[in-house]
Amino acid sequence: MEFRFSPQEEAFRQQVRDWLGEHLPKNWTGDRMPRSGDYETLNVYVQFAKQLAKKGWVAPHWPQQYGGLGLSVIEQLIFNEEMAYANAPIGYSAIGVGWAGPTIIVYGTEEQKKTHLGAITNAETMWCQGFSEPNAGSDLANLATRAVKDGDDYVINGQKIWTSGAHYANWMILIARTDPEAPKHKGISYFLVNMKTPGISTRPLIDMMDNHAFNEVFFENVRVPRDCLLGEENRGWYMATTTLDFERSSIGGAVGASKMLEDLVAYTRETKVNGHALAAETRVRVRLADAAVEAELGRLLSYRVAAMQARGLVPNYESSIAKLFNTDMQLRMARAGMEIMGLYGQLGHTSKWVPLRGRFERQYLWQTGLAVGGGTTEIQKNIIAMRGLGLPRG
Ligand SMILES: Cc1cc2nc3c(=O)[nH]c(=O)nc-3n(C[C@H](O)[C@H](O)[C@H](O)COP(=O)(O)OP(=O)(O)OC[C@H]3O[C@@H](n4cnc5c(N)ncnc54)[C@H](O)[C@@H]3O)c2cc1C
Repeated sequence: MEFRFSPQEEAFRQQVRDWLGEHLPKNWTGDRMPRSGDYETLNVYVQFAKQLAKKGWVAPHWPQQYGGLGLSVIEQLIFNEEMAYANAPIGYSAIGVGWAGPTIIVYGTEEQKKTHLGAITNAETMWCQGFSEPNAGSDLANLATRAVKDGDDYVINGQKIWTSGAHYANWMILIARTDPEAPKHKGISYFLVNMKTPGISTRPLIDMMDNHAFNEVFFENVRVPRDCLLGEENRGWYMATTTLDFERSSIGGAVGASKMLEDLVAYTRETKVNGHALAAETRVRVRLADAAVEAELGRLLSYRVAAMQARGLVPNYESSIAKLFNTDMQLRMARAGMEIMGLYGQLGHTSKWVPLRGRFERQYLWQTGLAVGGGTTEIQKNIIAMRGLGLPRG
C-alpha cells in the first residue's frame, strides 16, 4: 500500500492550487450560492466555469476526444480535493459533467455527442436531472411520467420533483415510462430534453435554508423529437444506473469538513470568553480533537474508493461507506461548531452577529438534505448490510 502521492501528482496539485490562487473570484469565501433570481451570484458560477473551460478543466477526467484531458482517477481526486478546499464555485456544470455527459459518451449517437459534449465542456449548457417523482425516490423504478410515441415524436406527460437547478438549467436528463405493460424496470426510457420545449413548467420548492435550489417540474403534452431518446427505447433504467469512472469518493465532503475544522480552530483561538480563549477549555479541545479524527477518517475512506478505482476495481459498498460516513461526519462537525459558538452559533447566516459568516448553521441545515440526495442514509446502510456484510435482504 502506497500512502504517498507521486511527485507528478504533487506537481499537479500545486498546479491546481496556483491556478485557483489566480482565478478564484476576488474575496471569494465560498459562502454564496445562487438563490432564486440572484443572477449576480449565478454569474460568478458561470464565469468561473468559463475559466475552467479555457483550461480544459470542466470535465478533466473525460477522454480527450470528448473535451476532457483524460486525467487519472488519482489526479481527478486531487483536482476535486483542491476545488473543495478552496470552496470553488463549481456547481454549475455538476450534472452535465457527472451524469449527462458520461451517459451520452456511452450511449449517445454521434449527433448527440456532437450537440452536447462540447457544450458541456465549454460550460455553455447547464443540466438538471429529472429522475425523482412524488412516488418514486428510493424506489425510482416506480416512476409514472409517461412518454408516448406519436409519429416522429414522443409526447411526455407527468411530474418530476426535487429537481435541483431546473429553474436555471437549459437541458434535462429525464427518465419516463414508455412501456406501461412491461415489468417496471424494463419499460423506462432515457431522454435529453430541452427545458425551453413548450409544455414544461417549473414551480419552486423552498428548502429550510429559505433557499430556492430545487423545484417541481411539470410536463403537459411536451412534444420532443425522436432524436431526444438516448440509446434504445425501454433500456433507460440500465442507462440511469450507469456508473462510470466519475467521482464517487465523496472527497468533496471530507475536504470541506477539514476546511471547516481549520476555521473553527482559528475561531476558538481568537475568541475570548471570561478572559481566556475558547480553545483553552477542555470541552472545546475534546470536541475539536474528535472532529479532527473524524475528518481524517472521512478523507481516508474517500481515498480508499479512489485507490480501488485507480486499480481498475469497481467500488461498491465502499462508496456507500464513504458517503454515509462523510455525510454524518459533516453534520456532527457543523453541530460541534454551533455548540462551541454557544447561542451565537444558532443565528442565521444573514445575522451580523453570527460567527464565521454563519457557515456552520447553514451547513447543519444543508447537510440534512445531503443525507437524502444521492441515495438516502438508509439505502446506503442496506447496501453495506447486503453487499458488504453479506446479510440477507430484509
Ligand atoms: C438536496 C437534494 C437534491 C436533490 N436533487 C435531485 C435532482 O436534481 N433530481 C432528482 O431527480 N432528484 C433529486 N433529489 C431527490 C432524491 O434523489 C430523493 O429525495 C431520494 O432519492 C429519496 O427519495 P424520496 O425523497 O422519495 O424518499 P423516499 O424514497 O420516499 O424515502 C423516505 C424514507 O424512507 C426510507 N426508505 C425508503 N426505502 C427504503 C428501504 N428500502 N429501506 C430502508 N429505508 C427506506 C428513506 O431512507 C427515507 O428515510 C434531491 C434530493 C435532495 C435532498
